[in-house]
Amino acid sequence: MSRLPSPRADLGLREGYHSAQVDVAVRLNTNESPFPPPASWLDELAAALAEVPWSRYPDRAATGLREAIAASHGVRSDQVFAANGSNEVLQAICLAYGGAGRKALTFEPTYALHGHVAHLTGTPVVSEERDPGLRLGAARVTAAFERHDPAIGFLCSPNNPTGLVDPPEVLDAALATTSGLVVLDEAYGQFAERSSVPLVADDLPLVVVRTFSKTWALAGLRLGYAIAAAPVVGSLERVSLPYHLDAFKQLAGRLALGHEAEMAERVAAMVSERERLLDRLGRMPVTLWPSQANFVLVRPETRSGTEVWKGLVERSVLVRDTSSWPGLEGCLRVTVGTPEEDDRFLAALAEVLG
Ligand SMILES: *Cc1c(COP(=O)(O)O)cnc(C)c1O
Repeated sequence: MSRLPSPRADLGLREGYHSAQVDVAVRLNTNESPFPPPASWLDELAAALAEVPWSRYPDRAATGLREAIAASHGVRSDQVFAANGSNEVLQAICLAYGGAGRKALTFEPTYALHGHVAHLTGTPVVSEERDPGLRLGAARVTAAFERHDPAIGFLCSPNNPTGLVDPPEVLDAALATTSGLVVLDEAYGQFAERSSVPLVADDLPLVVVRTFSKTWALAGLRLGYAIAAAPVVGSLERVSLPYHLDAFKQLAGRLALGHEAEMAERVAAMVSERERLLDRLGRMPVTLWPSQANFVLVRPETRSGTEVWKGLVERSVLVRDTSSWPGLEGCLRVTVGTPEEDDRFLAALAEVLG
């Protein structure tokens, strides 16, 4: 008989969040950048590593990194909270503002981690649906905030997995109605035409969350941050472990911010490639949504989503099968890759669809 104790029953032993990883030539399933970060950044980082006092704990306040992030957004460094990926930012938000009896609200379909992280922190999750076109409008948001009065209301724009951007009235409606925090996940913000970071102010319950994983081509670094009112940043710091941001990450992130122009070039290349991909897909028997992110949502009309997903894997192309997600029957999410990768995907899809 096993003597191992059971983990917490209230966590319900949910399966962790992950994307199927199979061995294929073309990976378009996790919205990473198809480009490596600039080689000059890597050289700078390698040289700077020799100067790090490795026997010492890192700067607990991550001063240099937060100042660099603040400068890139035109905010103050006490309005910046940095953590190990934006997922850890979400966790800190739920630890500080969620918990038993304090609801988190999501609008489905959206990024699964919002609900998952809330659940892991003991925050009850309530969900509302987007409209049948997968869009969100002000009336729906106002009604949902009034009905649930959440401690944390999650918005995501551009939304994962649809790529759709919310109209500005959506955030306005949430902020006008909430008695808690409104968390706007802008993981794909730089691929879109508009950001809500400029709205952040010390008297507004708005937290905008960003990451280095997508636009910054640094998913391997695990660095994300929030821009929020200074008192909110203070609360997030108080629920974080001491020295949660290591010296390497602080340095790598700070140096990366010195390469904004090269990053902007990568983003521009991905945006134009996204438009090419949408244009080519538009000539196939599929339904599409106008994405402002680095991925597109596709619903094949002649075969089921899972059949198409399998057919693509057989042709060594991996996309995300979102067809079992609520509201996404038959849909696949495809990350924008290099033109060569996207051409392989398009050719494979044309074959599978016949
Ligand atoms: C990819 C993604 C993130 C990134 O999380 P990290 O922990 O920073 O890698 C956050 N939010 C959304 C909506 C995403 O799609």
